[in-house]
Amino acid sequence: MFGEDGQFRHALVVPSRADDDPVEAVRSLCRQLRDDALALGATPAAIGVVTPGLVDETEGVVRYAANLRFRNVPLRAFIGADLGLPVAVGHDARAAGIAEAVAGAASGLDNFLLLPLGTGIAAAVVVHGAPVPGATGSAGEVGHMPVYPGGEPCSCGQRGCLEVYASAGGLARRYARLGGTPGLDSQAIAEAVATDPVARTVWDDATQALGTALATLTLTLDPARIILGGGLADAGVLFFDPVRDALHAALAWRTPPPLLRSAFGAQAAQVGAAIMARRKADLPVPDGWGVPELARTGAGPYV
Ligand SMILES: [Zn+2]
Repeated sequence: MFGEDGQFRHALVVPSRADDDPVEAVRSLCRQLRDDALALGATPAAIGVVTPGLVDETEGVVRYAANLRFRNVPLRAFIGADLGLPVAVGHDARAAGIAEAVAGAASGLDNFLLLPLGTGIAAAVVVHGAPVPGATGSAGEVGHMPVYPGGEPCSCGQRGCLEVYASAGGLARRYARLGGTPGLDSQAIAEAVATDPVARTVWDDATQALGTALATLTLTLDPARIILGGGLADAGVLFFDPVRDALHAALAWRTPPPLLRSAFGAQAAQVGAAIMARRKADLPVPDGWGVPELARTGAGPYV
């Protein structure tokens, strides 16, 4: 929940349970947020809801989201009826791209890519100032780009996909499969790279795979900047340096675009959803809206 001034006010986190009705769970969460706002003395002006998967933002319908078990869910109509507020429905990665453009690492840019490297990998492809949805709402599903043809199997049914190697979830699964210490997540694997040969191998494969994929995306789209977020990007130079090297090596004849870390990290989609909601309600979204006050004063980690 964000205030009129763009400052973060309140969050509500609920686990998804396999036996819940997934649509009712989201509707109930939205009603709870509205009630929380009223309890805090605020009157909600609009709500933005973003999901992974195939999202028809014009119609406000989630066409397909495997993890949420959504198929052709008219979220805008449902939540609009429940709350009586303007409702924006969007894709989580594209919403994150909107946040980075308004106030983050892509501030002021019209052409850039944002890749959150989380459970999977989906990119926000921003061209001429707007995230591209594509003909079927599935633009930016770069996690299934083949980077090691004939490589290891992916949940999508193909082999050698980018997210098998370079998503935080994929990295952890490969590390365990190749005999690494059980139970390590991507952050722990990053910390073990200097001393653990299995960690070194999966890290090198991840950064090489990502560099290769970014070269293809650069040649296709010529972005001004590429922003990386999610668990792996939190490893800083340990991650960015080899990805930059792989990208440079794959682009023989042109200068690669700069790589930057996401300004909002895991909160980017939330900030983007709030911006989409304000636009839906015809409320102003000044540059810098959604940036934490701490960062505005220069005291925070925001770059
Ligand atoms: Zn795949």
